[in-house]
Formats: sequence, C-alpha cells, structure tokens
Amino acid sequence: MSASLDIAIAGAGPAGLAAALYLHRAGHRVTIFERFGEPSPVGSGLILQPTGLTVLADLGLLDAILALGSRIERLHGADVASGHTVLDVRYDARPGGRFGLAVHRAALFGVLYGAVREAGIAIETGIELDELDTAERVRLVCGDGRDIGPFDLVVDASGSRSKLRRHVITPTEPRPLAYGAFWASLSWRGEGFDEHALTQRYDRASVMIGVLPIGRSEPGSDKMAAFFWSLKPEDAEAVRMKGLEAWKQRVLSLWPACATYLAQIDSFDQLTLARYGHHTLKVPVGRRLAIIGDAAHSTSPQLGQGANMALLDAAALSYAFKTSSGVEDALAAYANARRWHVRTFQALSLMFTPFYQSDSVFLPFMRDRLVAIAAQVPPVPQMLASMVAGTMVDPLRPIGLAEPDWDKINSGPAVVAAV
Ligand SMILES: Cc1cc2nc3c(=O)[nH]c(=O)nc-3n(C[C@H](O)[C@H](O)[C@H](O)COP(=O)(O)OP(=O)(O)OC[C@H]3O[C@@H](n4cnc5c(N)ncnc54)[C@H](O)[C@@H]3O)c2cc1C
Repeated sequence: MSASLDIAIAGAGPAGLAAALYLHRAGHRVTIFERFGEPSPVGSGLILQPTGLTVLADLGLLDAILALGSRIERLHGADVASGHTVLDVRYDARPGGRFGLAVHRAALFGVLYGAVREAGIAIETGIELDELDTAERVRLVCGDGRDIGPFDLVVDASGSRSKLRRHVITPTEPRPLAYGAFWASLSWRGEGFDEHALTQRYDRASVMIGVLPIGRSEPGSDKMAAFFWSLKPEDAEAVRMKGLEAWKQRVLSLWPACATYLAQIDSFDQLTLARYGHHTLKVPVGRRLAIIGDAAHSTSPQLGQGANMALLDAAALSYAFKTSSGVEDALAAYANARRWHVRTFQALSLMFTPFYQSDSVFLPFMRDRLVAIAAQVPPVPQMLASMVAGTMVDPLRPIGLAEPDWDKINSGPAVVAAV
C-alpha cells in the first residue's frame, strides 16, 4: 500500500514496539500509547527462538540482542525421583546451526525501545486505552474518558488482558490455566549448570523447577539467570504462610544443586507469581483494527513461543500492508498469513503443558517412559527441535522472511535474507 496511514499502537511490549518500527519504516505515521508512566518490561527471562531472532535480524537488531543474551543449544530436563532424562531437545545436531537466545526481558525491551526512540516514533505514556469508536476513521477512548484520534488503523498490542479485542467478530477471553509459577531474576552461578541450556527438574507434573541463563539485562551489567518453580496460583499464599525456609528446603530436597540460587533469595518479594491463561482469537482483526501478540493469542510459556509469535505478528502485519491495496485487504492478509502457525502452536502448547504442569499422575508417567525413549528415535528429535524452534509450520515464507544464515551468525555479523 503506497498511502501513508495514521496508526495508533496500544502497548509498548515486544509486539507493539516491533510493529511500530516496521510500520514507521514503511512510511506510516505511528504513535504508541502505553498505560505505564514509564514503559518497562514485566517479568524475568524468555527464550527468543530462531523465528523471533529472524524478525530481530530483519529489523537490524540481531547483533544488539546477541550481545546481551545467552545462547541456548539444548533444553534438558530430568525426573527428580529416578534421575532419568525426560526432556532432551537440541536446536541443531550440528555445531554452528540454529540456536535459541535466552534474554532478560529488560534486554529485549531495551533493544526494541532504543530503536523506537532512535527512529523518533511518538510514545505517549500513562494512557490506558479502554474503548474504540469505529464510526468512521477509528478513535480511541482512554480510561479517563478522553478521546484520541482519528486514526486509519489501531494495532492492539496490549497483551493478554486487552480491552480492545472485544471489537473483533468472535472475541474470546483467556481461560485461566491450573498452574502458574514463581519467577525470579538472580545472578548467574555456573557451578553445575550449563550456560547454554535450559535445565529443568520435575516431580511428576506438579513440580517443575527451572534454571535458564539469560545473559545481561543491559551492556556491562552482570550475567543473570531466571529461576522458576511451578505452582498453582491458589496455593501461593499457603506456601508463603509456611515461610521461605520451608519452601527453600523443599526445593533443595528435590534439586540440591539449586542451593547457589536459593541463597540469593531472602524474601518472597523476590519471587513474582505468574499466572497463565489460554485463548486464541479466531480472526485477529476488526474494522480498522489489528490484534497482535498476546492480545490475539496467549498461552502457558511451556513451549516458549509467546514473544516470538508477537514478533512474527508484527512482521506479518507490516508485510500485509506492504503487499495489499487497502486497509481491509491488508487486515485480511495479515490474519491469513498467521492463521496456521498460530493455531498449530496454540494447540501444541495446550496439548503439551499438562505433561509438565498438571495434577495428572498418568501424563507424567507416560512422559517419563515413552517420551524419553521416543525422543531418541528419528525423526522425533528433529520434530521436537522444529517444535521448540517455532518452525514446525513455516511462519516465515508467508510473511516474506527467510531464516538468516546461522553459520554466518555463528562466525560473524548477522545477515537476513528476504524471500
Ligand atoms: C513467566 C513467563 C515466561 C515466559 N517465557 C517465554 C519464553 O520463554 N519465550 C517466549 O517467547 N515467550 C515467553 N512468555 C510469553 C511472553 O512474555 C509474551 O508472549 C510476550 O510478552 C507478549 O508480548 P506482547 O507485546 O503481546 O504483550 P506484553 O508483553 O504483555 O505487552 C503489552 C503492553 O501493553 C501495555 N498495556 C496493557 N493494557 C493497555 C491499555 N489498555 N492501554 C495501553 N497500554 C496497555 C502493557 O503495559 C504492556 O507494556 C512468557 C510469559 C511469562 C508470563
């Protein structure tokens, strides 16, 4: 589309910041509205998969994020009772291939936000968007009743609790999932832990403990690790009532090597309780409205795809506007380009999460016996690797992207090829 549009973006998370960069670079007039007074990332760490890294490479931000994150080559998990390996996925069997990049959320936010500021994109903070008025061009209504606009397009990137998605044809709200987790960002301690792996321990499916090296939150700062302990949000208060020492003893009894991380926790205030929900919008668009990121589809972080899907959505939206002749055509093209990838990964997440986070006795029993054996038999390792990488259904070609040359990235500056 050659016309330059007035575009409002709700939310300065990964989806909103990436969409702002893409749409600004395509010549549109973009304003980001963020409810926080000072935009900031929430939470601990996450894994950028080869899909998300491809989008960051396309935005010219790969070297900046590579300089901060920790390369992840393997996801490894063992059962605490038997010590048996029950999860072992490598991104690439050959050295120099694909990898994930675990990052502190502040690192991803800082890289995207820095690029947005450098581009001179307008950001209005302290504005909570509540409602849309789509009578002609679209207007936004703030929490305090003020009305902003008009805009040619609103991009809703306001996360899983979006208030704007009720304007799509078939809106859905997230269904709470049984398990959440305590998360903490701690100093990285190498002893006994692989700096290039997500390492987990499980007790059936009711306990999952994880240590993820996440690199630095900003240049020059110390290396960090994300530490997590899964639990039902409704049990969190009872755990707190029993006291920090009782909880630490329980963790230590299951995974003694964690002592070095537990020693850094002096108060439950250092542990953030994350609650997860699951929803997928059937069609993530409305009249002059595109829904991207967690606002369009949220799930548990079991497969580690959420931020990557948010980045893919942003790239897909921009590609749709570049290759379509009008706003309505572009919105339809965006929804179409993302349909199968989003649906497949949302379904996989729903299917796999109870194997690792549920009250089931049967599912972890199956996991510990069958998955561990099946995961050794080709082509299962390759399938698991493409599931973790986010490429099981190719999300890139439909949005005009191709994976960068991983060999070159492993040995020098990033290059991304456009299809
Ligand atoms: C504990 C945990 C671990 C995770 N691990 C991974 C992982 O390993 N890999 C992965 O890819 N993903 C992971 N995720 C998921 C990932 O964090 C999300 O998918 C991703 O942050 C979604 O980005 P977003 O921009 O859509 O939404 P958000 O990051 O939620 O950003 C939304 C923004 O909108 C703002 N906002 C909200 N409402 C309004 C409003 N009404 N008006 C204006 N602004 C508003 C918010 O303040 C926020 O800044 C994890 C999530 C959690 C909770």
